[in-house]
Amino acid sequence: KLVAPYVKQENVWEDYVDLATRYSPVNLGMGYADFLPPQHIIDALIQTLSSENPMLHQYTIAHGHPRLVTALSKLYSPLLNRAIDPNEEIIACAGAYGALYSTIMGHIQQGDEVIIMEPFFDCYELMVAAAKGTPKFIPLRFKENNTCQTGKWVLDFQELDKLFNNKTKAIILNTPHNPLGKVFDEMELLQIAQLCKKWNVMCIADEVYEWLVYEPKRHIKIASLPGMWERTITIGSGGKTFCITGWRVGWAVGPKHLIKNLQAEPAFISPTFIQEAIAIGIEKELARLEQDDCYLKSLGRSLQLKKDYLFEVLREIGMKPISTDAGIFLLADWTPLEEKADLSFEKDAYKDMQFTKWFTKNVGVLMIPVSIFYSEARKGLGENFVRLCFIKNDECLQKVAKILRDWK
Ligand code: PMP
Ligand code: GLN
Repeated sequence: KLVAPYVKQENVWEDYVDLATRYSPVNLGMGYADFLPPQHIIDALIQTLSSENPMLHQYTIAHGHPRLVTALSKLYSPLLNRAIDPNEEIIACAGAYGALYSTIMGHIQQGDEVIIMEPFFDCYELMVAAAKGTPKFIPLRFKENNTCQTGKWVLDFQELDKLFNNKTKAIILNTPHNPLGKVFDEMELLQIAQLCKKWNVMCIADEVYEWLVYEPKRHIKIASLPGMWERTITIGSGGKTFCITGWRVGWAVGPKHLIKNLQAEPAFISPTFIQEAIAIGIEKELARLEQDDCYLKSLGRSLQLKKDYLFEVLREIGMKPISTDAGIFLLADWTPLEEKADLSFEKDAYKDMQFTKWFTKNVGVLMIPVSIFYSEARKGLGENFVRLCFIKNDECLQKVAKILRDWK
């Protein structure tokens, strides 16, 4: 009686947090910055906390603090080619994680099928299971045997077509993609959209890395394509936008008839003063959207250099990195280095887990095994890869380069 029905057996993230605590490696694991967020967002928080407005310390409207949803409607209306109603078409949540949870719990019921592309941000599977839905997985497969460019990892649309049926309730689309850094192009999005319309399926578009797209790629919102607004919930993250993942603010944007179902799941609300500070931050960016110093754009420019630097180091030591188009992660095929590692003492079922654990303990750099982003049946597809987070100080990346070169 005391056992919850969907307790997860193991939590890999916790394992890796634990490894980081025990061995103090340079940590390129979880996706967060090791540098300070922009000064204006810190100033906004200070301003909020020292405000004379007592209401900033009290409950706010459950579906989103008015100043935040208003700022978000100004940010997203032009991107979605419509006037978004801040009160009925946006909901602010505790992180994109909370927005995903409310979206899935608010829509998925027992018997509903949800299409998830592999590799996938691992919480999708857990949340669909929590809602008692059935995940239906489809892998992104690399074409032309080319694993080295993220754009070559593609859906087989005939395979996708076969997955849709009358039980299909939703498809989760993650673009830009974690962990691949793939940006789905217009042709791919149009094909997904066409299937959603044919089968009357909703699209959950997780776009938390929407601002971190590298030239010449361009992020397209599937909700902006014909006939998709009415069936799409688009999810964003204040944490990813301003490098403040610990503030735990995210949001969902979509038509009223979908957003209202998230209001039935009000468990994930962020503190009023944090929502207010993020609203001030977005207002600041709105005022300089077209300028070079707009943080939404300048962060991506600074990351481009970091990603290129780490890519070269990985290549130099003999790994096969995958060039990425977006986000904060690089994937690399680690297997050319397999014989340099003694994995005999590592007991995990998958070699990437053995390798990353051995590497953390013996070399001192923590990376994430990519099999964790696959369903049980297809973990083998991820086993040759590790994921490295490059949203780190230059000193940190230089330290990693030295450790890797010395090991080599
Ligand atoms: N979606 C994706 C693809 C992610 O990588 C993450 C984690 N960064 C989230 C959602 C959750 O974002 P947040 O930190 O805003 O909860
Ligand atoms: N999204 C982040 C990552 O992929 C954080 C992971 C997590 O919260 N479990 O690293």
